[in-house]
Amino acid sequence: MTATAVIGANWGDEGKGKITDYLSGKADFVVRFQGGNNAGHTVINDYGKFALHLLPSGVFYPNVVNILGPGVAVNISAFLSERDELISRGVPEPKLMISDRAQVVMPYHIRFDEYEERRLGDRKFGSTKVGIAPFYADKYLKLGIQVADLFEEDRLRSRLEASLAAKNILLKYLYGRPVLSTKELLPELLKEGKQIRPFVRDVTEVLHTALKDEKRILLEGQLGALRDPDHGVYPYPTSSSPLAGFASVGAGVPTWSIRRIVAVVKAYSSCVGAGPFVTELFDEAANELRRRGGDAGEYGATTGRPRRVGWLDMVATRYGCRVQGATEIALTNLDVLSYLDEIPICKAYWINGKDTDTFPVSALLDRAKPVWEKMPGWKGDISRIRRFDDLPLAARRYVKRIEELIDLPVRLISVGPKRDAIMVRDCFI
Ligand code: GDP
Repeated sequence: MTATAVIGANWGDEGKGKITDYLSGKADFVVRFQGGNNAGHTVINDYGKFALHLLPSGVFYPNVVNILGPGVAVNISAFLSERDELISRGVPEPKLMISDRAQVVMPYHIRFDEYEERRLGDRKFGSTKVGIAPFYADKYLKLGIQVADLFEEDRLRSRLEASLAAKNILLKYLYGRPVLSTKELLPELLKEGKQIRPFVRDVTEVLHTALKDEKRILLEGQLGALRDPDHGVYPYPTSSSPLAGFASVGAGVPTWSIRRIVAVVKAYSSCVGAGPFVTELFDEAANELRRRGGDAGEYGATTGRPRRVGWLDMVATRYGCRVQGATEIALTNLDVLSYLDEIPICKAYWINGKDTDTFPVSALLDRAKPVWEKMPGWKGDISRIRRFDDLPLAARRYVKRIEELIDLPVRLISVGPKRDAIMVRDCFI
């Protein structure tokens, strides 16, 4: 059997949680391969409404094994409290595994995230302040702590000492804060190690065996293509790669196994945090779209921050699908556009006196102006429709125009936040 990646084509918040939750019904494993608890996936199903931050979106199916792969930033207290919350709200105890090779978000990563944003002042990046950038910086500085280190006291002590030596200089001289000691951190980390030990596995082995046994694996991305450190809107990316190509690394499955790459695209654009956003709307038009968007308006699932919103940016979306290597699209939030007489789509950018449909580097993006095409609206409730052919003609045309502009099939169309508000255009999974 092969693996399917469900990833974002844009800035994140495309509705990946809803699509992964839906597809999980036919999966055996759902694997997070990057990021940590710095973004939220909203899932609405028979158990209620949930904002998952760290746990994979397959946790609502008791038969599905949910895995945090080696590429994930594991915040242990966030993991335990998210799990407890699910159980306390009546969700059957989910099957969870954490890679022994994944690394742990340390209390000092969270502090450094805060101190650095404060130091940057007006130049801050809009971090969610849960320690993700300092965590990945440490990983590549070879100062990270692997989950398996938590079970070896002597090793953990010496890893902490190595990490704190440089950190304390920064704390003292750059941030003017109290220094940290291994003695102070060690007992808490050993305790957390004991708490998560029952979930820890060599998940690379587990997934390779699963592939051999013809099991179905979903790889769930966090954020979207434009937040990739190499291909995204630098310097406003996230600190790990949200691309399907990285799913192989961050989950630990062979590259050849990822055959299906479902790019989740929202029927309009939205973006949390700083950085260029060419089709951004302001004032009343923005307020109206923000109010109508998502399940309860466009507000960050982790941060509660109002999301920036705009009309569908096809230049960014086509590029996002390309760098994801998407094989198909899941279009979400189509119902949200039902109030419009006409729907603008940005089909090109105007930069330096020329039209371009190629997504430029950040240095040029600041100058880009949207070139609009207007599609007729359908002005009617589509949230109960479950067959593509039953959608109003204008809605079908909107979907087909998206397919034409991206050159990929839209296989899934979501018309409401709940699990069943979805239509499949072709046989899926
Ligand atoms: P993710 O991080 O990609 O999973 O996306 P978020 O959960 O942050 O944001 C997506 C928002 O859209 C959430 O509020 C979802 O409940 C909502 N949503 C997903 N699909 C649909 C849909 O088809 N229609 C509507 N109205 N809301 C949707």
